[in-house]
Amino acid sequence: MIQLCNIGKVYANGAPALHDVSLKIPAGDFVCLTGASGAGKSTLLRLLYCAERPSRGQILLGERNITRLRPRQIALLRRQIGFVFQDFKLLLKRSVFENVALPLQVQGLDRQTIHSRVYKMLQYVGLEYKLQRTPLELSGGEQQRVAIARAMIGQPRLLLADEPTGNLDNELAGEIMEMFERINLLGTTVLIASHDRELAQRFVRRTIVLKDGHILSDQRLAQARPQN
Ligand code: ADP
Ligand code: ADP
Repeated sequence: MIQLCNIGKVYANGAPALHDVSLKIPAGDFVCLTGASGAGKSTLLRLLYCAERPSRGQILLGERNITRLRPRQIALLRRQIGFVFQDFKLLLKRSVFENVALPLQVQGLDRQTIHSRVYKMLQYVGLEYKLQRTPLELSGGEQQRVAIARAMIGQPRLLLADEPTGNLDNELAGEIMEMFERINLLGTTVLIASHDRELAQRFVRRTIVLKDGHILSDQRLAQARPQN
């Protein structure tokens, strides 16, 4: 489903971020991109989201070459991709409900449809009883669950998450990883960037280690973690 062919990225200020990265991620995979700070993890995610353009190489999403899309095409592409950030990026003056509803309002869906889809999604992340709260009235773990609901409300085929557990303690981080696991089991391809390789490996099926913009290793894990 995702194919990176000889991707290079040098930022405008001359900072090199990725060198000759080639990678295939089949639909339905559950992958952690790991490596030290500065290894190029965020850059790789941002290229897939078309928030950056590669300096070299091609990126295919399905049959589609997304290397050089126009702004209008990028907006449409992003309806098929959910993105979750380390710092949640919720609208702090809007309610939980409004934060999750926003992508559907942008698509122009009617109120009734929006209401029932948002309510179901909030039930899915276990926050339907907090729908009128604002983000700052919630814990960090709850805020991230709202952000995941917002990312998934458009039923994207691909979910990208950049250090999604970076601001959470261990237990909450585990809960968020479990949520990604459930989302993946329902068929969405999930690609997470995390410096916390140990945490990720308890959940994901494949770990790709980046170092200084190169792929150091790409390991498919034998099986899902044991149930305990
Ligand atoms: P990671 O996510 O693994 O920490 P990044 O992709 O953020 O790595 O960064 C890779 C390299 O690119 C680093 O050297 C970083 O400083 C640089 N970099 C990242 N974003 C930018 C940017 N917007 N402008 C210039 N350099 C950047
Ligand atoms: P992360 O690794 O989680 O992306 P960073 O601190 O590397 O966190 O990046 C935070 C933001 O700063 C990103 O939007 C990135 O594009 C930008 N950034 C990172 N490194 C640089 C850099 N050397 N020059 C300019 N912008 C950068």
